[in-house]
Amino acid sequence: MHKNIVSKQLYQEALGYFPGGVNSPVRAFKSVNGTPLFIKKGTGCRITDEDDQTYIDFCCSWGPLILGHNHANVRTEIIAAVEKGTSFGTPTAYGNKLASLILKNNRFIEKIRFVNSGTEAVMSAIRLARGATGKSKVVKFEGCYHGHVDHLLVKAGSGLVTFGVSSSAGVPENFAKETLVVPLNDAAALKQVFEDYKDDIAAVIVEPIPANNGLLLQDKTFLQLLRAKCTEFESMLIFDEVISGFRVGFEGAAGYYDIQPDIITYGKIIGGGMPVGAYGASKEIMGFVAPDGPVYQAGTLSANPVAMAAGAAQLKECLKPNFYEDLEQKTKDFVGIVNGHAEQKGYAFHLFSVASIFWIAFTEAEHIRSAEQIEAGKMDYFKQLHQYLLENGVYIGPSGYEVGFVSSAHSTADLEEAAAVMCQGLDNIFG
Ligand SMILES: *Cc1c(COP(=O)(O)O)cnc(C)c1O
Repeated sequence: MHKNIVSKQLYQEALGYFPGGVNSPVRAFKSVNGTPLFIKKGTGCRITDEDDQTYIDFCCSWGPLILGHNHANVRTEIIAAVEKGTSFGTPTAYGNKLASLILKNNRFIEKIRFVNSGTEAVMSAIRLARGATGKSKVVKFEGCYHGHVDHLLVKAGSGLVTFGVSSSAGVPENFAKETLVVPLNDAAALKQVFEDYKDDIAAVIVEPIPANNGLLLQDKTFLQLLRAKCTEFESMLIFDEVISGFRVGFEGAAGYYDIQPDIITYGKIIGGGMPVGAYGASKEIMGFVAPDGPVYQAGTLSANPVAMAAGAAQLKECLKPNFYEDLEQKTKDFVGIVNGHAEQKGYAFHLFSVASIFWIAFTEAEHIRSAEQIEAGKMDYFKQLHQYLLENGVYIGPSGYEVGFVSSAHSTADLEEAAAVMCQGLDNIFG
């Protein structure tokens, strides 16, 4: 039985400093009724907490660490950059290097602007879409998360197409009203929203691989319909690729589905574990961004040299031959072991996956494509499994709505070990 004595002490102390003891809400373990572990180090696929307990990690900092923890080349490049100073507020060669790595290997954007988080990337992309189209409404999908941008912190009301209802205090209803919320994978609702608001829609924003509310894989035809409708009504299609970018392939979901969005946002992997976000588009669309154009967007620490060095070191590894193929195969094998076991035993359980992303779902459904298909009542099973995994050395994000990530540092042996623990956990729950 794990004790977590030091983690509990640190959490008590943190409760005095931070709201809920944390600096980002999901870290507080609320949805699994636990107390957070304080992690002190990570190497490869393993993390160690303050009580010196080690775990195979599938959270991977919520996605950024596609090479696992403390990758030697990333660490070396970060240290080399730090030795020259940490920030200048001027252009640096580091920014060019990361931009050229990305732009030379991505057919879907021609210019890029670096910011400091995924939220900032999305906020800026929305402003750009509005500035470039002169329109104001934004369409978003129930079950997609786009960071904590005011007018995207909205949920659906009742009905097929609804004005957003703010899902956070502090977001004026008038902001929320600029957002139209429709269900995922629902062609009729999408057609309806364009019929109702034809000339007012600046942008449709979507996670092309929705991975923040379970893994809600979309039919490709639905994503193609988004493209067609945005073209027809001269609205901008924004792919929020903060998770999927550099994860399902170097060209992200745009490449995976071969769909050209108008603007793409990035975050997470792009910074190699440092705080980086970015948005990119064609030269023409990026021409609206200041100082070339009228859409203002700036950042004191944007394209910070240390962060740029980390991002470039990580992406260089991702560009090596078969990087994504190997990662996907390993993930498939891992998922296959657990699903095979669940199937053989007749458990109502499934690991959904794409590339190196997986999601734990207690369901009999073969596909889950929209938020309302998720069985909230089954989250109690997730709590039990989460607890079992932690006590047996496997760390996953503390919420059944979050996905897991496999990194290139997870070896076949590590994955087989984790799969065995997961199978035992299921036996424990259902047995
Ligand atoms: C994580 C995430 C964001 C927000 O990024 P932060 O760096 O946490 O601000 C936005 N969109 C998507 C799809 C994300 O997964």
